[in-house]
Amino acid sequence: MNQPLVIDCHGHYTTAPPALEQWRKAQIANLNTPHLGPRAADLRISDDELRESIENNQLRLMRERGCDLTIFSPRASFMAHHIGDFNTSATWSAICNELCYRVAQLFPDHFIGAAMLPQSPGVDPRTCIAELEKCITQYGNVGINLNPDPSGGFWTSPPLSDRHWYPIYEKMVEYDVPAMIHVSTSCNSCFHTTGAHYLNADTTAFMQCLTSDLFSDFPTLRFLIPHGGGAVPYHWGRFRGLAQEMKKPLLQEHLLKNIFFDTCVYHQPGIDLLTRVIPVDNILFASEMIGAVRGIDPETGHYYDDTKRYIEASTQLTAAEKYQIYEGNARRVFPRLDAALNARAE
Ligand SMILES: [Zn+2]
Repeated sequence: MNQPLVIDCHGHYTTAPPALEQWRKAQIANLNTPHLGPRAADLRISDDELRESIENNQLRLMRERGCDLTIFSPRASFMAHHIGDFNTSATWSAICNELCYRVAQLFPDHFIGAAMLPQSPGVDPRTCIAELEKCITQYGNVGINLNPDPSGGFWTSPPLSDRHWYPIYEKMVEYDVPAMIHVSTSCNSCFHTTGAHYLNADTTAFMQCLTSDLFSDFPTLRFLIPHGGGAVPYHWGRFRGLAQEMKKPLLQEHLLKNIFFDTCVYHQPGIDLLTRVIPVDNILFASEMIGAVRGIDPETGHYYDDTKRYIEASTQLTAAEKYQIYEGNARRVFPRLDAALNARAE
């Protein structure tokens, strides 16, 4: 078997030049006086600055670790949909998505975009469609990030199975793009952003789907649940048992044609559990570097988020299964990625 293309389906632009954060701070400082705040055109970041921010960071690590291509989206914790109103989020999303698009243009072999949406608490998700369409049709994005909790830790939106979200799903089906279900910063002090809120949301999203019949309404809708699926794989028996109590079909039938998990689990036993419990066809390689956990594990001497090492070291995965995790499943879940890769190969 040929060496698989190693596709990291979960990367964020966490290393954007500081001008981006300065722009955002000025925007936030003028939430009540937006006419005094910065305009999108006031942000100036050169191609050289973009190149430098990627070459010395993500691209360097991709080369060192043997990763070929990253599905690249704006920094998740900076989405902060709870800040301001729809217009605040709309301007901010447009800026962040454009930067990722420019990175993908500068490094077309290594990055392809996924869009953040201009969500805002209490606002109809229909308002996100213009940005979604632009990112897919003009920027060549292959997926979106959907925040199930734009309130930032207070869960004021209806569950993902509610019709509230259907306008987004209809567009996802139309364009055949999956959504990574990804929250942003927690502003609830009970929930640490990356240590609790992210994992809570992963687990919550799965359970919202389990209790519903969402995928009967949208048989081709696909969700990627990041961070290894939160608590889901570890408690698979609980979820199977709950589904059984609720007279739902077997999870394989009920959810696993539509829900996928990434490999952002930062130790070997976690990956071993994930790949043993969840069918390999539902697991997509990802590292989320350079992200929440940036240190070196003293037990191994390697970066926690160097997740390829764990897949390589797995004693239970065959070469064919590793191909699925690295490449095959990503091509299936992200058909626009598959089409882009095929077009390049010709
Ligand atoms: Zn992420």
